[in-house]
Amino acid sequence: MRVHRFLDGGQAPTLGKVVCVGRNYAEHAKELGHAVPERPLLFMKPATSVVPLEEPIHWPVEEGICHHETELSVLIGTTLCRAHAEEARHAIIGWGIGLDLTLRDLQDKLKKAGHPWERAKAFDGAAPMSPFLRTDQWPKDWQDVHFGLLIDGVERQRGHTADMLMPILALLVHISHTFTLCPGDVVMTGTPAGVGPLVSGQQLTLTLHDQVFTSSVA
Ligand code: ZN
Repeated sequence: MRVHRFLDGGQAPTLGKVVCVGRNYAEHAKELGHAVPERPLLFMKPATSVVPLEEPIHWPVEEGICHHETELSVLIGTTLCRAHAEEARHAIIGWGIGLDLTLRDLQDKLKKAGHPWERAKAFDGAAPMSPFLRTDQWPKDWQDVHFGLLIDGVERQRGHTADMLMPILALLVHISHTFTLCPGDVVMTGTPAGVGPLVSGQQLTLTLHDQVFTSSVA
């Protein structure tokens, strides 16, 4: 996948990097036994990690279990560098849902050894991504949006953007003071509780506001 996709089929920017935030929902930090961080925990995935959500999900199985983290994802349309909130508001051109796939066994090993996480979070295919809704098709109140994940028809994750520890605009402003965000970059805004291992053959249903997307595990 070389370019992003809009749900309406219009032209979307070329894939850029993905900036992710860890522990942006208190209930998720708790389920993994972590404290809520004092400032957002940021990491990145390269453009090569982004694949269409509807394609069967793969990961390097020799590395152990792969967890699903279901995340509201925002598509950036204009450059943000040390931005203010109003600039950040105007820079968002799309809203989608993605999976921050995480090789949890490997991540635990890397963390224990004090090593970087990239092998566990930034591998090829680690960011299955839906097509994006344009901002004019999106609820006016960004912090009142529900999203979720069902696996084989059973609800596994349910998120509400009101529960974010750092809301969307503040997050973009914060990120832009460390990483310049460019057109085609995506910010994944953190996972709610309910993360768990994927198993071959599972059918995934991801919900985002009034949209439904499907995927499957290869
Ligand atoms: Zn995540």
